[in-house]
Parts: sequence; structure tokens; C-alpha cells
Amino acid sequence: MKPMGPIPPGFAAQTGALTIGGQDAAALVAAHGSPLFVYDAALVAAQVARFRAAMPAGVDLHYAIKANPLPALLARVAPLVDGLDVASAGELARALAVKPGAAISFAGPGKRDDELAAAIAAGATINLESAGEAQRALAAGERLGIVPRLAVRVNPDLELRGSGMKMGGRASPFGIDAEHAAAVVRTVIAAGADWRGFHIFAGSQALDAAAVIETQAATLALAARLAEEAGAVPLLVNLGGGFGVPYFAGDVALDVAAVGAALGDALAGRGAVLRDSRFAIELGRWLVAEAGVYLTRVVDVKHSRGETFVVVDGGLHHHLAASGNFGTVVRRNYPLAVAARIGAAAEGAVSVVGCLCTPLDRLGDRVALPPVEVGEVIAIFLAGAYGATASPAAFLGHPAPAEIVV
Ligand SMILES: *Cc1c(COP(=O)(O)O)cnc(C)c1O
Repeated sequence: MKPMGPIPPGFAAQTGALTIGGQDAAALVAAHGSPLFVYDAALVAAQVARFRAAMPAGVDLHYAIKANPLPALLARVAPLVDGLDVASAGELARALAVKPGAAISFAGPGKRDDELAAAIAAGATINLESAGEAQRALAAGERLGIVPRLAVRVNPDLELRGSGMKMGGRASPFGIDAEHAAAVVRTVIAAGADWRGFHIFAGSQALDAAAVIETQAATLALAARLAEEAGAVPLLVNLGGGFGVPYFAGDVALDVAAVGAALGDALAGRGAVLRDSRFAIELGRWLVAEAGVYLTRVVDVKHSRGETFVVVDGGLHHHLAASGNFGTVVRRNYPLAVAARIGAAAEGAVSVVGCLCTPLDRLGDRVALPPVEVGEVIAIFLAGAYGATASPAAFLGHPAPAEIVV
């Protein structure tokens, strides 16, 4: 038997038949088909409210839409947040459907000239990833006859301790090395661009409040130092994000109240050059991961050499992360349940496997579940972020999953 991660707070208290947004999970599958991603908009709104309650005044909330860019979900999230962060022209188009360009920022390496032009035309802020990109963005602005809004993404000389995915403190395709950032700021200002500020993202999936607090303080100090060096006041300092969610056994939720309190203190003591700046935190998974459930019907229950395999009609082609093949070194179990019998006593361990013809397609490895029959539904939690769009949907030619917001 192997442990599972904790069922997220929005569902943990349930027993009996799982409901999502007050609707019976099996009934949702009957109505919309299987496999099915269901996102509970009220749970996302509750996360936003938690953020607002924890954070000091003057700190904006941005949603990094790569975590979940479903248009129906974006429409619900956009009014609740101050900005949307995008990482491609495709995401930009989705963001523009629900937010004005001025509230959108565009990060990511390898932005093509046509993507830079689309962002400039929309009035979005481009987070510059290199000196070369700065030149191409300036040229695109000139071609369009529009003053581009440019921010400098900094590759910080610090990293988010204990984060699942480190993106700072070393050589990186992301951001301009801190030691060269001020020069690029001066260049874009001298070229007549509308310089917006800094974007400093040091890592992702952090659960340790002390590490986030330390990183935010260091990020603020770095922004002040670079602003002094550049001789320019940033309108906005995007402090990154990296708030994680508990996926696996032993994971404990990030203490956002502690993070917010410490950020209040750090902001109160910030360098004079940042006195009139605004600040933003950009979050993806923390806002949406726990609000999503992946529902998949059992096709077969088979026994092989002493083990039981619950074979479902979904798999890693829809939810790669739950199979342990999206950025994890050791495969561990996401929380899952038999949708009709949440909280029921387990009867031994079963493995829940997807329908793909590869041994990688394992959604639950020897997990304790109550007995389950063909036709019933398995619920895999933490499916709200990096699910459908972060999975190889075309692999093996199965249909795309349905996705709904309730
Ligand atoms: C991916 C990404 C995010 C979102 O990360 P989460 O772990 O989902 O919060 C935020 N900012 C940048 C620059 C990113 O690349």
C-alpha cells in the first residue's frame, strides 16, 4: 500500500457521494460524458478571497493562465483578479477576451515577432527575457507606430528554497541576468518605450512559508537595487509567486497568512526608490489546482498475480501530472477516491491505471480504495491546474476530455 496526497479542503469534509459545486459527480459524468474535468468556480473565488485577506494593501493579484486557460474558467476568474499573465499569443487572445490589454502581461522565452506585435497592439506589457528580445520589441513598436509597454524580467541571483521547480539563481532561458538588467532598463527608456517595471519570478510550488518570505524580501531588495542602478522608478514590481499546493502525502498547505504578514513588514521597510511602486503576485496553481476534479469511469477491474487493477477510460493523455510524468522525480499518488463512496473504508490496495498502452499510465499506485465496480466513477483531485492543457492529448488517439465549470 502506498499513501495518497490529502483530499483538498474544499472536498475533504465530504462523505458518501462526491459533489462538486453542489452537483453529484456521477450525475455530471452521466450528463457530460467521461472522462470529465470539473472546475468549481466558488472554490477559486474562495482562494482569491483568502489571498486578499492575507496580503497587505498595494499588492495586486495576477492569474498565470497557463495553469488553466479554459475560456469558461477565465471568464469567472478575470473579474476577481487585477491582471492576467500569459505566455503565448494564443494565451494572449484568450486573456483579451476577458480583460483589457493594459491588465495583461506577457512573459516567456522565444516570443516571435508576430507575438510581440500582437502584445504591443493590445497594449499589454511584455516582460522582456533578453537584450535581444528588447531590441525586437522596440523594433515591433516602431513598425506599428505604438509605444510599447515593456518590463524587464530579471533572472535573479537568488532562488526560491524548497520550490518544486527552480527558475532563478543560475544560468537561465528566463529573464535577464540581474547584473545586466539595469542596462536594459536604461536602453528601453532611452529608446522611448513605456517602461513598466520589473518581473522577478524565483520558483514554483513552494509550501514552506519561511522560504517564500525570504525570497520575497530578497526580491524586493533586488528590485530596489536595480531601480537605483537604472535610475528609474518602476510602476510595478511583479514579485513572482510560487505558492504551492499539497499534492502528496506529508505535504502541508502554505501558510499564506504568514506570507502576507511578512510581506507587509517587508513593504513597510522597502527602499525609497520603490515608494510609489505597485506590487503584484502572480499565481497559477494556488488559485485553481484544488478547485478541479478529474472524473473517469471504470472500464475494467482485473486481477493479475495478486494485484487488482482498476482500469479507467481516462489517463495520462488528460492528466499527465497525476501519473507522475510532469516534472516529478519520484512518482507519488495524487489524492483519489471512488466518487460514490468518499470516505468509505478501504478494502486493500488497488492500482488505478489509465487506458493507454504504456506502463507510464498509472493514476494511482497501490492505493487504499473501497471496492469499485465497472461503470463507477473514480475522482482524481487537484486537477484544476496543469491538467488538460499540460497533457499529451493526441497520444494514442483518444478523444479530448470534456471540461466544465460549475
Ligand atoms: C508558470 C508560471 C507561473 C505560474 O506558476 P504556478 O506554479 O502555477 O503558480 C507564474 N509565473 C511565471 C513566470 C510562470 O512561468
